[in-house]
Order: sequence, then structure tokens, then C-alpha cells
Amino acid sequence: MTAADRPQPTNFIRQIVEQDLASGKHQKVVTRFPPEPNGYLHIGHAKSICLNFGLARDFGGVCHLRFDDTNPAREEIEYVAAIERDVRWLGFDWADGLFHASGYFQQLYDYAAHLIGADKAYVCSLSAEETRAHRGTLTEPGRDSPYRTRSVDENLDLFARMRAGEFPDGAHVLRAKIDMASPNLNLRDPVLYRIKHAPHPVTGDAWCIYPMYDYAHCVSDALEGITHSLCTLEFEDHRALYDWILDQLPVPCHPRQIEFSRLNLSYTVMSKRRLHELVTGGHVHGWDDPRLPTLSGLRRRGVPAAALRDFCERVGVTRKENVIDLVQLETCIREALEQDAPRALAVLRPLKVVIENYPADQVDWLDAPNHPQRPELGGRQLPFGREIYIERDDFMLDPPKGFHRLAPGREVRLRFAYFIRCERVVTDPASGDVVELVCSYDPATRGGNAPDGRKVKGTLHWVDAAHAVRAEVRLYDRLFSVPDPAGEDDYLSLLNPASLEVLRNCLLEPALADASDGRQFERLGYFSPDQDSRPGAPVWNRTVSLRDSWAKRQGGSGA
Ligand code: ATP
Ligand code: MG
Repeated sequence: MTAADRPQPTNFIRQIVEQDLASGKHQKVVTRFPPEPNGYLHIGHAKSICLNFGLARDFGGVCHLRFDDTNPAREEIEYVAAIERDVRWLGFDWADGLFHASGYFQQLYDYAAHLIGADKAYVCSLSAEETRAHRGTLTEPGRDSPYRTRSVDENLDLFARMRAGEFPDGAHVLRAKIDMASPNLNLRDPVLYRIKHAPHPVTGDAWCIYPMYDYAHCVSDALEGITHSLCTLEFEDHRALYDWILDQLPVPCHPRQIEFSRLNLSYTVMSKRRLHELVTGGHVHGWDDPRLPTLSGLRRRGVPAAALRDFCERVGVTRKENVIDLVQLETCIREALEQDAPRALAVLRPLKVVIENYPADQVDWLDAPNHPQRPELGGRQLPFGREIYIERDDFMLDPPKGFHRLAPGREVRLRFAYFIRCERVVTDPASGDVVELVCSYDPATRGGNAPDGRKVKGTLHWVDAAHAVRAEVRLYDRLFSVPDPAGEDDYLSLLNPASLEVLRNCLLEPALADASDGRQFERLGYFSPDQDSRPGAPVWNRTVSLRDSWAKRQGGSGA
């Protein structure tokens, strides 16, 4: 059963939605994914996307894509395009449900004036520092602003003049009038609007006051008829404000905010601020660096969207904070690729082998299936000549017990080809390094089996020297050396210096010369061509190794 066929596991949010449909509270589910366009999406966002779009899909509803573009200083058009691309790539479609919070600026302004008219909001002229001093703490109540008692008329006048651009940034803010003694700090007269003389990517110079997230978000939800407003747990304490604002306003509906826990992954960082630092500080090569947990990085690395959807489904939706082990993500990627990736032979660290009893001008074309379990994926022919390359690691001069690959005097199988025996070793006289193996082959073993029934312990991958395609291959490891870098002060010092290894003399079987989709390189892992590839100069990324790389490092075997 593939991931797509598996029934959706239930979770507490699905149960709420089911109840609301069964009771008739809602006829149709409307959810939204509301990214702020201030960076690229990461795998944490994928969890929110799969949840919101998945509910809409499974219950016959709709899911909106809404850009939460209320902070003009930090937002860029580049991010908007990247976000749309990533959501589509993940396999979801917002149909005609594409919205911008900036599209509601006039309505938000009118509702703010409504709050003022109802004496539920006031213009406050304290400095930022004074506001902080009045706010109180978790254990002490705040103090009322001296501007809290301004008349409705004065507030309406000042608010209109804020909008008209009469005041510099920071001169005034609009605050909700709730309760400065509330145990919930979010209810201590939170700011609803601030002055910011900055052009906005969508509205240009039309506005110089901008709504705060807590105000814009709930109103946007209500204006779009959202039924279930799903957000991460850090907004739990904001729910009272979400509800308070909607209770004061003549909005068309009152969505229910439901919180769930964020996705956290080990050995990486996920907050956009940290990702920004990594990108702008040159610690990685752009937002789509395959080491990043960004969706564009994962895509470039060769991770199929289906693997991410499967991962989000398996992680589930709960209210419990937790950190998911990177190994779980790798498992989902492997399972998806195992099914679909055609096999290929490639040698990452080549060691030359000359087969002395093989005629110099002869080429054998050997049949190789593209997938061991899926004959419908067809096959290809591999050239085999007198000179081939094997993996340097697959040979040892003086092998320890348990090493079943090639060594002096030993016989192994070349995958899909012949048995070869190592007759002699050529070393570099200066360094003593092994530079070439002289082997013999047994023509009777064509296809990889001996008619006399003799067995060999090792089967090696290889490529033919005359036909091989030279390529650059990039190997990736965890971006950080510790499981929870975000929890450390100086997290940049914890970057894994070996997170990227570039191998420039790799050799691929000829069918890969201009492949545009991924492969399993037998015994090495899953790889996919990188966008840096040029005609005649392919570049491949290792998407994931064949086994858990951590276990391998301890076990010490494999390529
Ligand atoms: P970050 O903290 O990484 O900067 P954010 O929450 O500020 O992310 P938004 O653009 O505001 O980013 O997020 C859009 C939506 O994605 C929000 O509903 C948010 O709750 C959700 N989201 C963000 N990060 C995660 C995560 N790690 N796990 C689950 N959902 C997330
Ligand atoms: Mg945010």
C-alpha cells in the first residue's frame, strides 16, 4: 500500500471538524494557510500546509492561501513567488482562494474606527519604552496609559490623522481597551496599529499605518469565512484576544482558533530568522541549499513531495511539543524512492581496474534491469570493457576479518557482469598508494553466476572506463553537529563542518549523461541531478543514503 492509499489517521482537529459537520455547525470546511512572505517555506510549514489543505480535501471544503503581508519592512515579492511554487509542488491547490491580508486594509481600518466608536480602542502616545514600563509582568498588573481616557472624538480624529500621515513613526499607536490587569499579557491593551512610513509591496504608498498581526489575523479569517483557524501552540495565549476582537466587531462569522504543536526536527534550525542568518551570512549557498530544511532545499536535494506528505502524516497532529528525529524524515524519503527510483551504477571514488585477459578492443553490452522488483520499469545495457572503475573503498590490501569485498587473490562479482579476481596491485612508488588493480575475469560467469556453482561473498558496483560520464557529486550530512542547535546561544558555532562534501571525479554509467530525474546509485544511496548541471558536466546531489547514516558510521561498513 502506498502512502496515498493509506487512510488518513485521525487526530483531534479532524475530530472537531467531523463533529462540526455532523452537528450542522458548518456545512463546508474552510481553512487557510497564512504564511508571512518574509522568507522561504520550511518543512514545519509543510506540516501546516498538509493539515490545512488536507482537511479541505478530505471533507470537501476549501483551503485558502493567504499572505499575511502586514509588515511591509520585511516582505519581498521573491518570497511570495517561492511560497506559491512550494505549496503547488507539495501537491496542493488553492483554486481561486488566493488572498492577501493587505487586501483587507480598508476594512481593517473601518473596523478599527468601529472599535474606537464603541470606546474599545484608543490612540496611545506613550513611547515604546514607557509602554513597556506600564505593561507590568506576569506577577504584577500593568498600569493604565494616561491616554486611555481620551474621548472617542479625539481618538477618531487622531486615528484619521495617523492614517493621513501627519505623524512620524512611533508617535502614536492604536490600542485595544481591554484590561491592564489581565493575567494574560496579550489582553493588556494590545497594540492594534502602528505608524510605519514604508511602501508596501502590494499597496504601495497608500498606507502609512499598518495593522498588527493579532488584529489583522482574526479579522482576515472572519472576512474569508474561515471555519477552523489552525495555528501553532505559541498562539494559545493569543486566542483570548482573537476572540475578544471578533466579539466586538460586526464581522460575518467567528472562526474557531485551534492550536497544535509545531514540527521541530533534530540537527537543524527552522525559524525563518535563523534561516535568514544562515543564508545571508553565507553559511549555506542560498535558500535552496540542499542542507536546509526549506522546501526548496529539500526539492533540490531530490526529496519527492510525496515523501514529505507521508512524513507530515506520520508525525501527526497533537498538542504535545516534541522534536522529530531526522532519521524519521530520511526513512520516509527512502521508502518513497525505493518504490520509484530506477537503479544505476556510479562510482564516487574511482579505483582503476585493468582486466588483463579481456581483449582491448572488445565491448560487451550487459543487460541490467532498472528496478529489481518492477520489471515494468524496463532495463538498459551496460558497456563492459578491459578497463573499468570500482569504488576505492571496495578494495583493501590487507583486509580485516569480515571484509568481503576485493583484496589481493580474492574473487568477487561485478554487478550484472562477471566474476573478477585480483591478480596484482600497482602502487605509486612515491606514496605507496594503490593506483590500479590488475584482475582477471571468468568469461563463463557472464551475468554474475558461475556455471560450476562456486560462490563469491562480495558484489561490487562498477563503471566501464571508456564509456563513463564524469560528474560532480555532492554529499550532504546534518547541517549541525548537535541535535538541538536552536536551543544554544551561539548556534552558528555548532554548524557541522562536514555537512557538504564535493566529489569532482565521480564516474556514472553512460545512460546518466543527461538524466533529468533521480536514481538509486546501487549500494550508495539515492541521488538526483542538480540544477548546476551543464551539458557534459553533470552535477548530482545525494538525496539520502541507503541506510541510516548514523548507524552506518558506528557500524563502519558500506560504501
Ligand atoms: P517561523 O517561526 O519559522 O519564522 P512563522 O510561524 O513565523 O515561522 P509564518 O509564515 O507565520 O511563519 O507561518 C505560516 C503558518 O505556518 C502559520 O500558521 C504557522 O503556525 C505555521 N508554521 C510555521 N512553522 C511551523 C512549524 N514548525 N510547524 C508547524 N506549523 C508551522
Ligand atoms: Mg509568523
